[in-house]
Amino acid sequence: MIIDYETFRVRADALVQRLAEACRAAGRDPAAVRLLPVTKTQSAAAADYVARYGLPAIGENRVQEAVDKQAQTAAPVRWELIGHLQSNKARLAAAHFDRVQSVGSEKLLNHLDRAAGELGKVLPVLLQINAGHDPAKSGADPAEAAQLLAAALARNHLRVDGLMTIAPLSADPAVARRTFASLRAIRDDLAGRFGVPLTELSMGMSGDWEAAVGEGSTQVRVGTALFGARG
Ligand SMILES: *Cc1c(COP(=O)(O)O)cnc(C)c1O
Repeated sequence: MIIDYETFRVRADALVQRLAEACRAAGRDPAAVRLLPVTKTQSAAAADYVARYGLPAIGENRVQEAVDKQAQTAAPVRWELIGHLQSNKARLAAAHFDRVQSVGSEKLLNHLDRAAGELGKVLPVLLQINAGHDPAKSGADPAEAAQLLAAALARNHLRVDGLMTIAPLSADPAVARRTFASLRAIRDDLAGRFGVPLTELSMGMSGDWEAAVGEGSTQVRVGTALFGARG
C-alpha cells in the first residue's frame, strides 16, 4: 500500500533539502541536480503525488507496469524508463516513454530507432554503462561505450542526452563513488572525442546519491527514500 501524500511531501522536502546541501558541499549549483522519483511497484497514485509536489518526471523500470499506470492517471509527468528493456518491447517503450535511460546495446538501439521512426518521433535516450564492471548489472562495458555512442549518433530517431549507470551493491561506499567518477570520466572522454555535450549523468539512488552528487550527477533516481521499502 502506498504512503499518504503528507508522508511523501515530508520525505521529499527533506530529500530536496539534503540534495541542496550536498550540492553546496560539492561546490555545485543545487539547480544542476534533479530528483527523479522512482515509482516502480507503487500504485499509480505515486505519479499523482509527484505531479502535485511539482516534480516533472518519474522513473519506472518495467514497460508494462508503466503502461498500466498511465491508463490510471492523468498526472502531468514525463515517464522515463530506467529498467532493463528487451528488444521485443522496444516499440511499446518508444510509444509510452518520454525517455529511455537503459540503452546498453546496439541491438536495442536499432530497435528503438526503428520504433521511434515509425511513430514519427525522436526519442531521447541515455546510454547505460556498466561503469562498476558489475556482472549483476546490465549496461554496456566501458570499453564498448564509444562504439555504442557512434552507433546512436548515426541513428535519425534517437537523441543521446548523456549516460546512466547503477553502482554495484557494496558495503564499501568507495565502490559507488569510484563507479560514479568512472562514468563521469567516460562522459568527458566521449564528449571530447565526439564533440557532443552528453550533459545528463543519471547516477545515484537512495543508498548512494550523495556520492553521485559529489561526482557530478545531474539526476538522482530515488525510490525507497521517498516511498518506503518495496513490498
Ligand atoms: C529501483 C531503481 C532505482 C531506485 O532505487 P532506490 O534504491 O529504491 O532508490 C534507481 N535506479 C534504477 C535503475 C532502479 O531500478
